[in-house]
Amino acid sequence: MKDNTEISEKTRNYTQQPRIEVCRNCHGTGVADGESLLRPEDRCPVCNGSGRVIKMKTVIINIRPYND
Ligand SMILES: [Zn+2]
Repeated sequence: MKDNTEISEKTRNYTQQPRIEVCRNCHGTGVADGESLLRPEDRCPVCNGSGRVIKMKTVIINIRPYND
């Protein structure tokens, strides 16, 4: 059994691994609107025509003792 004797406030930063998700703006097609990629300007601005977006997420967790 582990004993938690440390009661000082802690802040932990977790940087998650980048996740690749389907672009929700174009639903993975890479085209802003329409069905085919006819012109470069038709590319989805969110994913830049790739249909995938990389999401980076940093989670900050504050651990505080109960007594104040
Ligand atoms: Zn897109």
